[in-house]
Formats: sequence, C-alpha cells, structure tokens
Amino acid sequence: MAEAKIIDGKAIAERLRAQVAKKVGWLKANHNLTPGLAVVLVGEDPASQVYVRNKGLATEAAGMNSFTHWLPATASEQELLELIARLNADPAVSGFLVQMPLPKQINPDHIIAAIDPNKDADGFHLINVGRLATGVGGGMVPCTPRGCIILAKTVRPDLSGLDAVVIGRSNIVGKPVAQMLIAESCTVTVAHSRTKDLVGVVRRADLVIAAVGRPRMIKGDWIKPGATVIDVGINRVDEGGKSRLVGDVDFERAKAVAGAITPVPGGVGPMTIACLIENALNACAAQNGVVLPKD
Ligand code: NDP
Repeated sequence: MAEAKIIDGKAIAERLRAQVAKKVGWLKANHNLTPGLAVVLVGEDPASQVYVRNKGLATEAAGMNSFTHWLPATASEQELLELIARLNADPAVSGFLVQMPLPKQINPDHIIAAIDPNKDADGFHLINVGRLATGVGGGMVPCTPRGCIILAKTVRPDLSGLDAVVIGRSNIVGKPVAQMLIAESCTVTVAHSRTKDLVGVVRRADLVIAAVGRPRMIKGDWIKPGATVIDVGINRVDEGGKSRLVGDVDFERAKAVAGAITPVPGGVGPMTIACLIENALNACAAQNGVVLPKD
C-alpha cells in the first residue's frame, strides 16, 4: 500500500491566514472597520510568552490591530476581572482571550464566565460551548478543534457517516472536536484514560483525532488501513541528546498504514492561530452587522 498523504498544516494555515487578511482588507475598504484581537497574559510562563508573541505577529500580519496585556503572576482574580470588563466594553477589541494556564489564585472558570461570549476568541464560554453542543451555531468556535476539522476535510471533504474516534476528552480539544464531528454526521467515539480496549476502538476508526498529550502513544498497527489521522499532540522529548517535538501518534509507522496523516510539528499546530484570527474577523463583522464575502 502507498504511504499516507501528509497533510501540510503549515500551508493550509497560511492559505487561511491569507483569506482572513483579504477579508480584513475588504472590511476596511467597504466599512472602515479594523478587527482587533487582544491577548491577556498573567505571569511569565515562557511557553505562553512564545504563543502570545506568535498570536500578536499573526494578528498584525492579517492587517488587524493586536493588543497585548500583561499582568504580574501575583495579580488577583479581581484585577483580571477588571481588565476583562474593560476589554468587553472596548469597541476596538473585537475578540480576546486570556492565555491559560493561570496562576493558582485565579479560578479559570470565573475568568471564562466573565468574557463577553461575542468576544470570546477561544470559544470557551459556556454560551459558546452550548451553541456548539446543541447545533444552534452562530457562536465563537474553539480554534484547535476547528483546525482539526479543516485539515480532515482537505482529504475527505464529506465526513458524513465516517466512524471517528477522538482520543482525549478535554474541554479545549477532545469534547469540542467530538461535537464538531457529530455536526459533520460522523459516528463518534470519545476515548480517554478509562477506555477499555483502546486499540480495538482505534482500529475501527476511519478518522482518528489524537489529543492525549503522550508521545507516540498511538501505534502504527492500531491504525485502520487508509484511515485519516489528525494528531493534536505536542510533546517535547529528548532523543540522542536532542530535544524535539513529537505527536501522540507514532508518525513513522502510522504513515505506512494511514491514508492521510498530519505531521508534528507542521500539522494541527499552525491551524490554531489561523482559526483564532478568523474568529476575531468574524466577531468584528458580527458585532457590526456586516456579512463578509465568501472566499
Ligand atoms: P489534557 O491533558 O487536558 O487531556 C488529555 C486527555 O487524554 C484526557 O481526556 C485523558 O483522559 C486522555 N488520556 C490520557 N492518557 C490516556 C491514555 N493512556 N489512554 C487514553 N486516553 C488518555 O490535554 P489537552 O486536551 O489540553 O491536550 C492534548 C494534547 O494536545 C497535548 O499534547 C497538548 O499539548 C496538545 N494541544 C495542542 C494544541 C495545538 O495548538 N496544536 C492546542 C491544545 C492542546 P482522562 O480524561 O480520563 O484523564
């Protein structure tokens, strides 16, 4: 059997970013509107600083206004809530997110609940979670799960009727991607650390979405021949004295069996920021009653 098609998330994300930039230009030219995306970072977590910087660069590259707010690691929940209230009220901010994880003294549930659902660029507010789960739609959708669906559809434009397995049930990836797959009319199994016979569950799947956070846990011989494999995992491992990033799937073995597979890095990762700036664009249009042109 031929080797799997490698789904080039970097190129697909670049195309999406270019489409967003084009629509930002259209919004400016036709409605004198510029979307703004704000990111709030509390503390100095180095990985979060890198994400926040990359988000800012992508926002500016798309022609949108980028705002970054830093609070010290000692900031109180009240201070953060006050900043959120200001961002909710600021017409220059179309969407914003608070970078997780937060320091211990701040309850993330209180923070997410305080964000205006119409500006909830991460799509984590309960109103947006409910809109996705019920299929009512129209809400802000979580970025990494949306990136997974876009990537899967580049190789299987119609996901309807497929047996899909999502490994992982977190609120930020596993659960929302499962809801999106239900909306695409897949038959969805959500596996997690208590799943019996995970190997058997994965072997039945036409579409595998791995969001576990365990390096190369999903082995090549678990994959059904011809299946589409979307690997969300980002795991740093030390090999031969070198540090590198690997996914949750044993890529080298799986690509010999799968029909299509995302690499790590260069798969799902780049899609997250592209979908984030798309959310800010859509939020700006919705807040101003503008219908954006089709691609
Ligand atoms: P979480 O740690 O929140 O969730 C991991 C899930 O995997 C849990 O549901 C857990 O089950 C399940 N799990 C753990 N061990 C096993 C096992 N042995 N067998 C089956 N299931 C297991 O992780 P996230 O959802 O936040 O992230 C998952 C991965 O995706 C990470 O590598 C993360 O870095 C990456 N990620 C990548 C993003 C991107 O932009 N590309 C964005 C977000 C995350 P249980 O619930 O039973 O504990």
